[in-house]
Amino acid sequence: MVLNPLLLAMSLAASAQSGAIAESASMSPGAQPNAPVAPPSSPAAEPPTVVRELAVKPPPPVPFQDELRTLQSQLKVIEAKGPSRSTGRAFRQGRLRNPAQLPAQGLGFRSIRPERRAYYGTDTMIAGLIDATAKLKQGDHDMPPLAVGDISGPKGGRIAVHRSHRSGRDADLVFFWMDEDGKPVETTEFVRFDRRGRARHDGKLLLFDVRRNWNLVRGLLTSPYFGERVKWIFVYHPLRKLLLDYAERTEGDMYLVEYAWRVLQQPGDRAGRHDNHFHLRIDCAPEEIVDGCKD
Ligand SMILES: [Zn+2]
Repeated sequence: MVLNPLLLAMSLAASAQSGAIAESASMSPGAQPNAPVAPPSSPAAEPPTVVRELAVKPPPPVPFQDELRTLQSQLKVIEAKGPSRSTGRAFRQGRLRNPAQLPAQGLGFRSIRPERRAYYGTDTMIAGLIDATAKLKQGDHDMPPLAVGDISGPKGGRIAVHRSHRSGRDADLVFFWMDEDGKPVETTEFVRFDRRGRARHDGKLLLFDVRRNWNLVRGLLTSPYFGERVKWIFVYHPLRKLLLDYAERTEGDMYLVEYAWRVLQQPGDRAGRHDNHFHLRIDCAPEEIVDGCKD
């Protein structure tokens, strides 16, 4: 417990004062019989109630202090290296210069498959992911880290498996899972969910965590870094419906729900149906368009 020095001083002063009264009462021979006599317990008297209560109550702990310091330094690294450049299209001729790098982990995320070295993105993409997931974690302490898959290679361009992911503005975000009892399960890899939001993994039933997945969508759509430039969040159509039904029941902000209606989409066959992760695409910022970024 951290003692507040001011309260400690007040408490000591109160004890000293009552002790002084007791002393003068017992040592003064000419004391009036009716003079106030300190109660026998006064040298050990407890400080006034209000002081005692304040003194024993520790200040409320600030959660994630260390993690928030790390977050600040992660964001500073991005700022310090100078601005990134995203040129061309995400799925054609896309390139990336001076990219930001997603750290291996942060307050609300973890990079999976780091051996693929596809954790580079525009400053906006990386800072936006770090910030949005940290805010989710601060509002939901039981949240497992968001598992982040491929973003882009260090110079952009084509990377294995993907058609897009070429200009630092695409990121694969694995769904939040829970077990049959509704307890969160940390995501370790890509697992496909069926139409009802269920999956089998390691012999166990997994459920699509609608609330946390919606919170993630909301966090991305309202991110100050992304500034309403979320172009797509690709996801399997039945899972999209689970998310939007949940949002309509729980959200007061219908603008947000309509925004989600627009960007949550299952892409055509070529891009895959996205039943095991979200694919986030951010539009070019105006200053990036000047530099050759194309939506
Ligand atoms: Zn993707």
